Amino acid sequence: MKLLVILFLLVCVLVPCLAITSSKKEAGPQTVLILLGAPGAGKGTQAVRLSEKYGLPQIATGDLFRENLKNETEIGRKAKTYMEKGELVPDEVVLEMLFQRLSQKDCRKGYILDGVPRTIPQAEILQNYLTHSHADVTVLSLEVPDSMILERIAGRLSCEKCGAPYHLLASPPKKSGVCDRCNGPLIQRKDDTPEVIGERLKAFHLQTEPLKEYYQKKGHLVMIDGTVSKQETIAQIDKVLSTTPLFN
Ligand SMILES: [Zn+2]
Repeated sequence: MKLLVILFLLVCVLVPCLAITSSKKEAGPQTVLILLGAPGAGKGTQAVRLSEKYGLPQIATGDLFRENLKNETEIGRKAKTYMEKGELVPDEVVLEMLFQRLSQKDCRKGYILDGVPRTIPQAEILQNYLTHSHADVTVLSLEVPDSMILERIAGRLSCEKCGAPYHLLASPPKKSGVCDRCNGPLIQRKDDTPEVIGERLKAFHLQTEPLKEYYQKKGHLVMIDGTVSKQETIAQIDKVLSTTPLFN
C-alpha cells in the first residue's frame, strides 16, 4: 500500500513538476484561482466569467470527466469503471486527470479550478504541485447557506454539449433552452432534486469545507458573500482580484 502511494506521488507530482521546471525559464509565475463553495453556490458561473475576463482556462472536474470519457483515454476508462458502479471516483484518478490537463500549453500562465480540490488529501497533493510551479494562489470561498442553495437549485440548467451553467432566474440564456456559447441544448440535471442536493451538501460540509481552514492557514483564503445578487458577488470578487498584482 505504502509503495503504491509513493509510486502515485512520483507519477502525479514529480513528473509534472519536472515538466514545469524545464519550461519554467520562459514562463512567469502562474496565476491560480481556486473556487470553493457548496454545490449551487455559483462557482461555475463565476469560473466562466473569470476565465473570459482574465484569459485563463477554467478547469472543472465535470469537464475533465467528460473530455476523458469522450476521448476514451486510459484514465477515462478507469474513471468509468467507478462511475458505472455508482461509486465516487477516487482522489488519485481525479488528480491524474487534473495534472494531465494542467500540463497542457494553455495552462502555462495559470488557470481557474472549479470543483477541485474537493478533499484535504486532494488539496495536499495539489499543494506540492503548486509549490513546485511557483503558483500565485488565490482561493475564493463563495459563502451561501444551505437553505438558499436548495431554493436556487430548482431553476438550474446546464448545456448538454459544453457544460456551461445557467439559471432560469439568476442567469438565463439569451434564447430560452439554448446555450449562449455553443448553441447546445440546455438540460436540467437528473441529480438536481432536493434529496440529492441534501446529500451533496452533507458531503460538502464533511469533506470540502475543511479546505477553508487549510487555505486560511496558508493565507490564500478570501471569503465572498454569495447570498447577494450576482452583480454584487461579481463586484466583491473583482475588488479582491484588483489588489492581486497578477490580475492587473
Ligand atoms: Zn454550450
